[in-house]
Parts: sequence; structure tokens; C-alpha cells
Amino acid sequence: MRFTRKDFLKGFGSAVFAGVFARATETLVEAQETSGAHPRQTKIADITVWPFSMPQIETMQIALGTMGANNVLVRLRTNDGFVGWGESSPFSAVMGETQESDLAMAKELAKIVHGADPFTIPKIVVAMDKFSPGNPGIKAAFEMALWDITGKISNQPLCCMLGQFRDSFHTDRTVYLDTPEVMAKKAKIIVDQGFKVIKIKLGGSPEYDTERLRAIRAAVGSAVNLRTDANQAWSPATAIRALKAFEPFRLEFCEQPVPSWDWNGLKHVRDNSPIPIMADECIHTPHDAIEAVRRDCCDMMNIKLMKSGGILNSIRIAQIADAAGMACMFGCMSEMRVALTAAAHVVSASPNALYADLDAFTEYSVDPVIGGMELKDGTLRLPAKPGLGLDIDPAWLKTLRAV
Ligand code: MG
Repeated sequence: MRFTRKDFLKGFGSAVFAGVFARATETLVEAQETSGAHPRQTKIADITVWPFSMPQIETMQIALGTMGANNVLVRLRTNDGFVGWGESSPFSAVMGETQESDLAMAKELAKIVHGADPFTIPKIVVAMDKFSPGNPGIKAAFEMALWDITGKISNQPLCCMLGQFRDSFHTDRTVYLDTPEVMAKKAKIIVDQGFKVIKIKLGGSPEYDTERLRAIRAAVGSAVNLRTDANQAWSPATAIRALKAFEPFRLEFCEQPVPSWDWNGLKHVRDNSPIPIMADECIHTPHDAIEAVRRDCCDMMNIKLMKSGGILNSIRIAQIADAAGMACMFGCMSEMRVALTAAAHVVSASPNALYADLDAFTEYSVDPVIGGMELKDGTLRLPAKPGLGLDIDPAWLKTLRAV
């Protein structure tokens, strides 16, 4: 017998139907939110956190101060033996985090992540963001470890989990603030190492920065791409004066010329600059990316896992930029090759990630990461192994003290 909607309504009444339907819908949504369709019973069963420091070959001086590498390593282990690695590289001037604050926050985030199904990453990210809208670095560390685990369980590299667009790409290497002579000498060494792109830290007077660029361009020749970063050092008027003076040096772009809070100033600079403007310190979250698009105040965005709180939010920013017709760069703080490899996977999956600045690990005298992304002649290549595709040297790990 055919049971029509009319028969149904005759039997139960439309009001009752509406009530039942609403409850059924709620139950369905709730069931989807709580159980998921995944049949595994995998849970995060064990969480370990280590503070560590990377020995730097030389000082990483930028307009905001000196960048240290006092980071935090996170290891998650599931009840069925899968291990995921994550890393935070706190830089308080940009992220409002320190190694100590990350360790304190890690204890709180561990309560959210412990017992969770690693395949419910969006749910865990929502819970972590709800618990703390700040602390993006340590949230990113937990999230990338979850991705590492889901990749290993699925037997796929992270870039394939995200959807691969490219398997290798150029990264720049950075010349930090120093005298024009020293910066030019370092730039020449970087070119001799095979890099095709150099990122130059600026933020002094327009005259002194012009001397820096002149010395570097003379040292490396015309075939090398140069990009610059003022790290918020200038007023809008100074930025415009500087960028007009830099025009002969054929720069790809200048990052964050004015303070991160000065959206109007950034717009004013962008409207009057002969060089494209990349927003960096003013773009932390997807909401910031929306704001930048609304204000039409930049040509590109610099995305960092350490600013956005992880992979999902970074991809959201990249997609907002993409929908607005903007290219992105994926950059870094002072990570070693754990968090940098995670970022490389995201570059691999992001069609509009036309620039990469994932070079911090080249500044350290040790590298305890086994596997992971590989650097050759300025090109980064993704590992083929599942998850992040890396491990940590057990001998190095023994030198650290877990908290
Ligand atoms: Mg920058």
C-alpha cells in the first residue's frame, strides 16, 4: 500500500508532524556531530610535551626585535599505537605567546584533545578556539599532530589528505638586518647555495634601506628575485617614500610596511606604492583575511600556521584570498622541520600559494628531524611517507625533558 503525505498528515496532524520532524532533524544533527560516520575506535590516549631550543648559527634580527627559537614539541599517541608530531614556535611580538605560556596552555589543550577521535579535527579545532581565541602556535602544534596521525592511519601523506596541487616549490632564504655590506655578503652566499629568491629584512630609514638593497642587488645580479619585509616599522608616509625609492631594485613585494593595527594606513600605502604590498602581521585569522579583502588594502597575504592556529584555519585564509583573486605566501616564525614540513604540505595543497618562506631551519646548527621536507637548490620537496612524513631523532629526544 502506498503511504502518501496526505495520509500521513491525516493520521498525525501537521503540527505533530512538524514537531516530530524538528526533533528528528535535531537528533540527526546531534548524532552526526557526536558519533561521526567513521567506524574506528581510535582515541588520543597519551600526550607528551617538550620545551626545546634550536642553536642558531647567527642572530635573526628583524625590525620587531631578535627572533629566538625556543619552541615546544608535542607528541600525541593513540590507543592503537599511532604517533603524531606537532611543534609550536612562539614569537611573542606577533603571537602573544612564549615557550612558558605554551607549556601552560598545552596542559589545558591536552584536556580537550585527550580521548578525542583524531578524525574529528574540525570539532577539536572549534573546541580549542572556543577555549582560547589566542595561543595560535600551541593550538597549531596539537592540530598538526592530529593530521599526522590521521595521515598515518589512512596511509596517505598530509598533502594528499588535503588534496595535492604540487609536489615541490621554491622557498626563499632570508637575509636578516645588518649593515649593507654584511647583508650583501650573506645574499651572495644564499645565491651560491642555489636559492632563486632572497627575502630581505628592512625597516630602517628609507635612505639606509635603499643602501642595503643597492648593495644586495649589486652582489647577486639581476636574475635573482628579491622580496622585502619591513615588519611594521614605518609610518604610512615613510613607507610610501621608501617604496618609491626601492622601485629600481625590482622587488616582488614588501611585507607589512605599517603597524598591524593600521588598516587605513596599509590601504593608503597600497594605493600609492609602486611595489605590491603583502599583509602579514595584520592577518592572523580567517576573519582578518575577510577584513583585508573588504578594505582592499593588500595585494597578497602571508599565512603562517603559527598565526592562524593550524592547518584548517590557514587553508580557510588561503581560500578567502583565492576567492578575492589574491596570491598567498606561506611563511614561518622560528620552527624546525616539524612545523615547517606541515606548512609545506599546506603549500602543496593550496593553488594560490605562489610564494613560500619556509627557511627558518636553515638558521640552526642541528636538525633532529628524520625525513620530512627536503631542500635542494632552493626547492622544497614533500616527503612521500604518510602523515607529515617525518620522525624525531630518539637520541636528540633523550636530551630533552618532558613536562
Ligand atoms: Mg613578514
